[in-house]
Parts: sequence; structure tokens; C-alpha cells
Amino acid sequence: MRKDYKLEKRKYVIAAFVIFVAIIYILKLYTLQLNDDQYKNSADNNAFLRKTVYPSRGLIYDRNGELVVYNQPAYDVMMIPRDVQPFDTLDFCHTLNITREQFDKRLKEMRKSVGYSTYTPQTFFTQLSAQDYGRLQEKLYRFPGFFIQKRILREYNHKAAANVLGNIREVNPKDIERDPYYERGDYCGDLGIEKSYDNYLRGFKGKEILIRDVHGRIQGRYRDGADDIPGVAGRNLKLSLDINLQEYAESLMVNKIGAVVAIEPSTGEILCMVSSPTYDPTTLIGRQRGENYAKLNRDKYKPLFDRALMAAYPPGSTFKPTQALILLNEGVVNLQTAYPCYHGYINGGLRVGCHSHASPIAVKPALQTSCNSYFCWGLKNMLDNRRSKYGTVANAFETWKLHLVSMGYGYKLGIDLPSESRGFIPNAQFYNKYMERIDGVPTL
Ligand SMILES: [Zn+2]
Repeated sequence: MRKDYKLEKRKYVIAAFVIFVAIIYILKLYTLQLNDDQYKNSADNNAFLRKTVYPSRGLIYDRNGELVVYNQPAYDVMMIPRDVQPFDTLDFCHTLNITREQFDKRLKEMRKSVGYSTYTPQTFFTQLSAQDYGRLQEKLYRFPGFFIQKRILREYNHKAAANVLGNIREVNPKDIERDPYYERGDYCGDLGIEKSYDNYLRGFKGKEILIRDVHGRIQGRYRDGADDIPGVAGRNLKLSLDINLQEYAESLMVNKIGAVVAIEPSTGEILCMVSSPTYDPTTLIGRQRGENYAKLNRDKYKPLFDRALMAAYPPGSTFKPTQALILLNEGVVNLQTAYPCYHGYINGGLRVGCHSHASPIAVKPALQTSCNSYFCWGLKNMLDNRRSKYGTVANAFETWKLHLVSMGYGYKLGIDLPSESRGFIPNAQFYNKYMERIDGVPTL
């Protein structure tokens, strides 16, 4: 028989085609089974529920061991939209103590939120009260696709020191970007100690893997919890603050605007730090937090502005020892130099009052009696003496300022609380500008 070479060639073409199709199938299978997380995730999500275990946050004590901030449990209602099956919505609303409108609104908000997915747990409702939690827990089997997530909120033993303690709030996208520890729905410290020591207080989150049946109902722990990661409780903190002293100082500042800071001189520890007006720290817990925070933010007396850390106040008489050191160091005065004081300092249009004491007065008794005139005369002599070593008023002023800087004035103290502002020391340029209106060089 004569061989048909054309048919012989076609055989190879068919074989090549079959191999080609087989390769495509193998490649697709490879990507489906090994490479594509989408199918793996959805299969996993059907079978498992990964729950975050929130550890207890560190407790905060005052210097005497008095418990100031502790934890209370709160319960969030979570849902996996894909698992939700038709249920009695009215019964659900009644159990949660919400209206049908609130239910619909919440559902709409949830669907619009960033990172919404029908496969993963979504927060439907936050911070149930213990009573609502009890009611829902009993009926939960009637609402497939819903489960309860326990979390930790703060509770306060004293309604004081809100500005020092700070509070906690749900993380925002910026927090998550800044710190990869956080995930959507976590809570982080906001303001005060809670913010400064967030890393110590928060501990480490755990994970719990639960098995679900085809209807999404929880059947138990995966491998008896062998793959679960237990949470690690946060570390406790002991403050230098005396909470009773803090409460007392706050009571003295009711209806006043200002700040009180008491420091233990031997160690620099802060015993109390009041910023007035203040607010009740318990108003920033729970579901009312957002509303109450906005109210505090709008308040014209600015209770959220920490006056102890951020406001600028004249130093008052406590500044006199510093001024005495500069005058002595510069040789403007010696221990015998005495200045007159007849109930105050009067020069040009300026009058600074003083109480009655012997006159003239030298530096030691001036400090003892806190004489205003002495220190006014001292500074005037330093600035205005034309035959002095400084040459100009501006130079004298600059020297005065450099002494202050060398003693640490004007710098941040480095307190372990957020938002400390630095102090302000005026220099010669500042006074030149300030006095331009009055048309002339400042006279003291
Ligand atoms: Zn005096």
C-alpha cells in the first residue's frame, strides 16, 4: 500500500493539539488549586470562622495603688452577610432594643463601609449592654449568620483626671497604616496615658478558629483549639499621680479656667495635673462616645484642650529665683545691692504693685518677701544701663534670654503624655515689635 504522507503529517497535528489542550487544562488547574486564594478563601470561610480574641487591657493604678481605670466587657454583634438566612427581623430588632429604621440604616452603613465583604465577619452593632447581650445570646440560634464578639471597654473608679488618662476609641484607616498590629474594628488608646502607653496596655490579640457547618452554624473548635492563638493580657501601669489629690484639685477648679500641676520636687513626679474645665471620662465610653466627643469638641470652653500641657501662662513669682540668679551672675547686683519699694514699682506709665515690707531691700529678703519692685529694678538696670558691658538694650536682652535657655526654659519638659507644647521666651525683636505701637524703646 502506498503511504499517505499527508495523513501521516495530520497525525502529528492532532497529537500536538491534544497536548496543547491538556497543558491549558493543567495550567488552569494549577492556578485554581494552588495559586488562586480567592477560591481557597471562600472555601475556608465556609468551613471556618476566625474570631479575634481581645485580651484584657492593662489596668491603671495611682501612686498609692488605688485602682483608677479597669475593664468592663462589651459585646459587638457581628454578621457574615453571605451566611444570613431569612429571619424574623422584628424579633431581632426587639431583642437588640432597636427600631426597624435603625436596623435598615445600620445595614446600609455597613455595606458602604471600607473593606466590606460578604464572606468575612462585619460589625453590625457595637457595644451591647449586658442585658441586651443576655437576651440575644439566648436567641442567637434563630439568626443564622450572626455571632457575638466580646471586647474590652474602659471603666473608671473616679470621675477625674480625664485629661491625663485619655480614653480608647475604634481605630481609623490612619492608625492601621501607622501600625500594622491594628485591624479594622480594633480599639486603640486616644489622648493621655492611654495613647502614650498604648503598646504596653493593649497586650496581644489572639485568634480562635471555629468550625462551621454548611448552614454557617458553629460546630466547635477546629482541632480542639490546637491552632488557636491565645491573647496576652496588657501590662498594668502605676502612675505618679495621686488620684485623691487630683480630685481635690479638680474640685477647686470647678467653674474656673486654668491648670494646676503639683510636682514632687525630689523626683519630678507629677502628683496631680488638672486642666479646667475638664470632663467626665465615662462620657467617652461606649456607643455614646462619638456624640459626646463632638459635644466636647464644640464646647466654647474647650475641655479637650489640655491647658496644663499646651496653654501659655506667665510664670509668676516662681520665676523670681531664676531672675535673681541671672542678675547676680551678670554682676548687675551683688548680695548687698538694695532697691527701694514703696508698695510697688512705678516707672513712666508702668506700675507693678507690691505688699508692705522694709525698704530698700536686698536680694535675699526680696526673695523672702517676693518683692516685685526689686526684680523690676534689677531687670531695668540690666537693660537700661548705657555704660554697661552690653552696649545696647538688644544685646542685654539677648544675654538675659540666653541665660533662660541655658536653664531649660522654653523647651519641652519631655513629659510622657502626648501634645506637650514648648514654652515661649520673648527676645529683643519680639519686644521691639510689641512696643512699636507705643512708639519707642520699651522702658521698664
Ligand atoms: Zn516690694
